[in-house]
Amino acid sequence: MAKEELEDLLPDVDAAKGFYAKYEPKEILGRGISSTVRRCIEKETGLEFAAKIIDLSNDSHEVADGKTMLEATLGEVNILRMVAGHPYIIELHDVFESNTFVFLVFELCRNGELFDYLTSVVALSEKKTRYIMRQLFEALQHVHGKSIVHRDLKPENILLDDNLNIKLTDFGFARHLKTGEKLFDLCGTPGYLAPEVLKSNMYETAEGYSYEVDIWACGVIMYTLLVGCPPFWHRKQMVMLRNIMEGKYSFTSPEWADITEPPKDLIRKLLVVDPKQRITIKEALEHPFFQVLLWDQDMAPLKRSLSTSSRRMSRISQIALEMKGRAFDARRMFQFGILCVRAAVRIRRLRFTPEPLSIGVAKIDPYRIKILRKVIDACAFRVYGHWVKKGEGQNRAALFENTPKTELKQIYVSNLSR
Ligand code: ADP
Ligand code: MG
Repeated sequence: MAKEELEDLLPDVDAAKGFYAKYEPKEILGRGISSTVRRCIEKETGLEFAAKIIDLSNDSHEVADGKTMLEATLGEVNILRMVAGHPYIIELHDVFESNTFVFLVFELCRNGELFDYLTSVVALSEKKTRYIMRQLFEALQHVHGKSIVHRDLKPENILLDDNLNIKLTDFGFARHLKTGEKLFDLCGTPGYLAPEVLKSNMYETAEGYSYEVDIWACGVIMYTLLVGCPPFWHRKQMVMLRNIMEGKYSFTSPEWADITEPPKDLIRKLLVVDPKQRITIKEALEHPFFQVLLWDQDMAPLKRSLSTSSRRMSRISQIALEMKGRAFDARRMFQFGILCVRAAVRIRRLRFTPEPLSIGVAKIDPYRIKILRKVIDACAFRVYGHWVKKGEGQNRAALFENTPKTELKQIYVSNLSR
């Protein structure tokens, strides 16, 4: 990128000399309300980082807790330093301050947001959900252990590193709490707000809220990961907020039929309206959902399947390959024989195994059939290019009855130009 072009995009270059002397900014990785995150390269080492550039020029606005943007940013830095040193929490590498911009240089998470990953795959398996939720609870245990409440947990603020491990980020709303301290202000993201946060803002007599709000958000995240739609979404935000306060959600959408009991049970214990009755992080980590055999926790196959370069080989072809050019090995030969017999049995029973496809149901509601649902979801993603499933009473099949977004945009633009 040309220097002048960069100066246009990033004014206040003078005041931020320190940052530009040390780093070379590159493309935008993401945006927040008043921040832009860019990939950047440390000139001396050639290492890549992510720089969150916070614009202080609108500093007349209060952010949260009656603080200005600068105060809030310095608070964020302070908290980032307090929670540093955990494998599942983002690491702050460098900080630069100027009158109009603050530069926070973080370790780079090349795999982006959990939100985008979820959008691309629609929903996660129980196994992948377990893998991510365990890390999230462990990260949160560390954060709460430092007397800090995050207050903005959501898939956009959970990043994935090169190894597809999570890195919890965006401590912009996080607060350090004194013993027994309660908070009252309304902040966070609507769909993830705990009932007690809403109540603290509505009733004079409310008791305030504390660490448990993060545990509620974990429940919302876990629900969303498993089925690809959030538990409390409603077209009218007021209805959504009322549903949150009443803890009104359900496992009735067709996807839940394929999901086992343990994750549902854990979600029920996370999404408890009374924060005193809500499960603790320690209890959550001890929940049966996380108590699985070791081999089931091994995510190596998932990572391999995610890397596009790998090709899966069947066990038979693997053994056959290994046997080639070797001396006779009775044990291997026996294994090979067993595999062949198993394969033959499987082929013979093949006609009984596929999910019976009822044309009657498919005509009325194709979305109820798992195979068709996957196809529909994949097509919807291609058409809309983003997360479209909004929950209760609406499914991706129904969305095809509407005008695709690209056309709507054209209509909108042509109306504007009239
Ligand atoms: P905000 O407080 O404005 O929401 P975030 O810290 O959440 O800012 O960052 C905004 C977005 O930038 C994130 O949602 C993510 O897409 C991207 N991002 C932030 N930090 C990193 C990072 N370390 N590596 C890669 N992308 C990042
Ligand atoms: Mg954010």
